Amino acid sequence: EIGIAAESALLEIGRPTLVPPLPSAHKYSRGYVLVAGGAMAGAASLAADAAIRAGAGYVALAGPEHGEGPLALVQRLAVDPRTLADLLADERVDVAVAGPGLGLNDKAEARLESVLAAGKRLVLDADALTLIAKRGAETLAGLDAPPILTPHEGEFARLFGDISGNKVERAREAARRSGSVIIYKGNDSVVASPDGRAAIAPPAPSWLATAGTGDVLTGIAAARYAATGDPFEAACEAVWLHGAAARMAGPFLIADDLIEALPRALAACL
Ligand code: AMP
Ligand code: MG
Repeated sequence: EIGIAAESALLEIGRPTLVPPLPSAHKYSRGYVLVAGGAMAGAASLAADAAIRAGAGYVALAGPEHGEGPLALVQRLAVDPRTLADLLADERVDVAVAGPGLGLNDKAEARLESVLAAGKRLVLDADALTLIAKRGAETLAGLDAPPILTPHEGEFARLFGDISGNKVERAREAARRSGSVIIYKGNDSVVASPDGRAAIAPPAPSWLATAGTGDVLTGIAAARYAATGDPFEAACEAVWLHGAAARMAGPFLIADDLIEALPRALAACL
């Protein structure tokens, strides 16, 4: 009966309440996000920058731009000898992100494979979704924790094919099949969880229809997943914060403006 009630309820995404860091907080307790970059450094950096702006205490960007080593955001110019595999083995990493700028070649596939095998909480977007579509979204259902997937319309169609029904029904079915929390993006983004919860966001500014804004959403979702441990809550919070940052950034925004507006959007939630 509880299941039925949860299935039928459609929540509306409202302003979240965020908790300031405890006096005992340190950078790792606030959440460590690892972004697995790849071919396109810009997209992965947007996700990484958004994650640290959204309150993650530590973010590492493991991109091949400096060999295979990561580029910790706190030491941008340092070349770190640790590889993606080394970082994925670090138990302090709370959430791993793959997709923005990952690429679609064999090397990208191998990087995605190691992210999927790491036993971390995951946020998967962009090229990761395209690669996962090849093997089937249902292969995600066995992960330790439900990943957050952030498909736009095209990525959703690649992942799930034709699902009948309205956007909420399609998101719910996709979440069930993939065992994942889905942020089905667009003007009216929908969040759905494999446990039956679903929520719809108020319409977002159409100025978001520009390159890189999805990568920013992915970074925010990763920071909130690291902070809360609940992928559905994290996804809803991320969608709200992204929309609020867009409203604050105003007309003709670009993706970087969202990152700049994030502290104000977050402060509105305290
Ligand atoms: P992506 O397609 O991955 O670049 O992500 C684009 C981001 O902008 C997502 O968060 C979408 O929900 C949002 N977005 C794209 N187009 C619109 C639109 N016309 N109105 C409102 N939000 C949009
Ligand atoms: Mg995208």
